[in-house]
Amino acid sequence: MTDNLSVAVCGAGLGGLTAALALQQRGVDVTLYEQTRQLSEVGAGLQLSANAIRVLDSLGLFDALDRVASRPAGKRVRLWDSGKTWPLFDLGGESQERFGFPYLMIHRADLHDTLRSEFERRAPGRLRLGHRLESFRQDNDTVTMNFADGSTAVHDAMVGADGVHSVVRSGLFGPSDPKFSGCVAWRGVVPAAGLRDELRVPYGTNWIGPHGHVIQYPLRGGELINFVGIVERDDWSVESWNIGGTTEELTNDFDGWHPDVRSLIRAIDTPMKWALNLRSTMPSWSQGRVTLLGDACHPTLPFLAQGACMAIEDGVVLARAIDAHDRLEDAHAAYEEARIERTTAVVTGSADNADRFHNPLLADPARAEEYVSEQWASTRVSGRYDWLFEYDALSVPI
Ligand code: FAD
Repeated sequence: MTDNLSVAVCGAGLGGLTAALALQQRGVDVTLYEQTRQLSEVGAGLQLSANAIRVLDSLGLFDALDRVASRPAGKRVRLWDSGKTWPLFDLGGESQERFGFPYLMIHRADLHDTLRSEFERRAPGRLRLGHRLESFRQDNDTVTMNFADGSTAVHDAMVGADGVHSVVRSGLFGPSDPKFSGCVAWRGVVPAAGLRDELRVPYGTNWIGPHGHVIQYPLRGGELINFVGIVERDDWSVESWNIGGTTEELTNDFDGWHPDVRSLIRAIDTPMKWALNLRSTMPSWSQGRVTLLGDACHPTLPFLAQGACMAIEDGVVLARAIDAHDRLEDAHAAYEEARIERTTAVVTGSADNADRFHNPLLADPARAEEYVSEQWASTRVSGRYDWLFEYDALSVPI
């Protein structure tokens, strides 16, 4: 079906850019519309497991990403107050050996720049910035997009990759139903130089505590350290990457935590905060000539570090389905068949991790170590993560 097919992708985030590259690679005439006038990503890190790296490699991007990312030696769990440490998994040789690709930790801006510059190189003039979709309509043959500046565009099909506040999803299925999860996410990126030695080790660390957890990992070959601190609170409900809080507020949220965590917090210039919402999973993502991907259709709590990985997988599976089927409706059905069950499992698995990471037993020194040893035993860890990492979006049946 790809010959002469003109597809619009709405939203040049990580999922939209991946889909656009994967469609372009299969001969589709693709145009990417993005609301912002200047494309940029927030200052934050991303963990990318082998399942996502496999897709990015198929787009010819592995070497470019590997140059700017960090390849940690492993990942570990630490207890919030004592700092006692357990191995979580080996992300170096073992990820390569078992899943075919390493686990990379990367600055979002570096991943975004790599995807964007490659798309602009392969499809010059096809990234249209300053195009905020306001509404759309479809008939038997086309989709018409109406933008905030009054312009319109007509294509054979449209993919809504416009994130958690998706206009495309609302246009197809009505607004979503956000419910506050009770958790607020703090984030910051700090230069590694000047931090305590223990914070500069080449490991990703999940600090777990009774009412919160902290994820800490190296970026840019260890030059930077990424901090994400999740805390249970009920007094903040704004879901945005761009709202700052104060160091004092963040410090209070992690009162009593290990000195390593507190010194990392003190090194953050302006900590940013985001209220994490839960949304119901969707039984269907497509109608006629329009479908969805990424956070637009399966937003998730970040507790499995898989939201962007899922958006990246979606992009290539959708492109494969469009390539393999003669009718768009069949391609969309095959895409949903391949993707909904897996992404729903990520949404529920992430929510389950909230209970595990913030378990009240962690407050009790007599029980905490036993709890961690049991929950992070290697067989349990394999059960929670192997199905994610071994998935091959390039060969799943479509
Ligand atoms: P987005 O990245 O939101 O992109 C949407 C794009 O659409 C944007 O460019 C936006 O400007 C554009 N847009 C929106 N509306 C319109 C419109 N009307 N018209 C035109 N353009 C529009 N995931 C991981 O895999 N690993 C991690 O380690 C990880 N850590 C995380 C940590 C935190 C604290 C959080 C909150 C999330 C984390 N995630 C992680 C999840 C990940 O950030 C998201 O799942 C991912 O960014 C979703 O990508 P997307 O392309 O679907 O949407």
